[in-house]
Amino acid sequence: MVRNVRENLILSGMICIAFGGFLTIGGVLSMGVIIGISGVLLFVIGMGTSSNQTLAPAEIAAWKPSAEQLPDANRIMYRVDVTIDEPKKTTILCGPCGTVTELDGDRPKEFTCPSCNTKLYEDEEE
Ligand SMILES: [Zn+2]
Repeated sequence: MVRNVRENLILSGMICIAFGGFLTIGGVLSMGVIIGISGVLLFVIGMGTSSNQTLAPAEIAAWKPSAEQLPDANRIMYRVDVTIDEPKKTTILCGPCGTVTELDGDRPKEFTCPSCNTKLYEDEEE
């Protein structure tokens, strides 16, 4: 995930520095120097990257679950995601056929997949 870019860079940097150090001690000087320098660069980039670099608002607005088929657990599987921010958008992932349907507004009371005509759910309380 994008959120861990900084941690990953710092970690890779430290691994490279350590690895470079070992190679230098082991006599493979040129390799050790190259890897060591890359490690220092990664580390510096990692430290320079703002740690609260999360998903940009536009990316969050554009986010929707990937189209994938959910495992069939003896009942119809589906996933409903509703955005927290206005304007509200609901994405419904149909388990049987893996189609993601995007709707404006809140979670509907009932939903039938337009792609495979499977009734995914119906809220019982009225
Ligand atoms: Zn479907």
